[in-house]
Amino acid sequence: MPIITTHGLIKTYNGVQALRGIDLQIEAGGIVGILGPNGAGKTTLVEIIEGLRTPTAGQVTVMGIDPQKSPGRLKERIGAQLQTTAISPELTPIETLRVFASFYEKSLPAESILERVGLSEKARARNRTLSGGQKQRLAIAMAMVNDPELLIFDEPTTGLDPMARRGVHEIVADLRQRGKTILLTTHYIEEAEKLCDRVIMINQGQVIADGTPFELVSRASGVSTVWIAVEGELDPTPLVNAGAEPRGQEGDYLKFQTHNPAEVIIALGEVLKQQAVTLTDLRMKRPSLEDVYLELVGSPIDEAAGQVS
Ligand code: ATP
Repeated sequence: MPIITTHGLIKTYNGVQALRGIDLQIEAGGIVGILGPNGAGKTTLVEIIEGLRTPTAGQVTVMGIDPQKSPGRLKERIGAQLQTTAISPELTPIETLRVFASFYEKSLPAESILERVGLSEKARARNRTLSGGQKQRLAIAMAMVNDPELLIFDEPTTGLDPMARRGVHEIVADLRQRGKTILLTTHYIEEAEKLCDRVIMINQGQVIADGTPFELVSRASGVSTVWIAVEGELDPTPLVNAGAEPRGQEGDYLKFQTHNPAEVIIALGEVLKQQAVTLTDLRMKRPSLEDVYLELVGSPIDEAAGQVS
């Protein structure tokens, strides 16, 4: 049974259509990323799944529970880090987790959670003295208190520097290792590509692509770039006939772009047999998830996002 199912999910805010019919099935285990620009509907979607917002139409089931009908039962079994988590500045991380633990029937020891998120040394420091990355790790720790099967993180790394972001990625990867299901929203394409087992791209309240990063990249009609360095005078005609478009020279390399890199490489094999040239280097860049995103959304994510903190 899927851990999350949504069917025909619609959310309208005073005429603004934030979700326009979302159908999803998410199986247990692994990291699922919801990727999309600001305003795509990511927060609306996850907060409906958490039972914090009411859909205008459609159904949601989370671990067999309807979040609207049984919010209490759902709360025991999920962990949520909201986009802005209120952290009391005068409490310490350990006090914060103990207060949080009291809201649940079952909970993990605060010390062990702080260790897992790398905050043991700050366990007794006031929250107001924590860095941005440490606060974010505390927010994630708060979502782990009840040892939930499903964890939902809303933009857990927005605004963090690359080091702090990597720290959050390690925590998320560790949760996956422990068999948890993690649903996270992000507008960092690289994060989705590296961290997620499945990426659901949404734009203007609709799912526009869904699959593993590898599947999404393979399905896209993106362009690959091939750089070829040879000794001798290369006649590129057989490569051009195989679909390579010459893009001039970069240093010692002849640069080509193609939709069919495999055919170009096969043609290169023939060129090397038939022409008096020796291959000294070959480089290739396949389309990335970012290229797929651009193809589907039509604008770079930073531009679409307006601003990325
Ligand atoms: P962000 O990355 O900025 O958090 P998002 O993808 O999470 O964006 P949502 O916050 O779900 O997107 O917003 C989707 C749309 O719904 C936007 O047009 C937004 O302005 C609108 N919206 C969201 N919440 C409300 C609300 N409480 N009242 C009115 N409109 C809202």
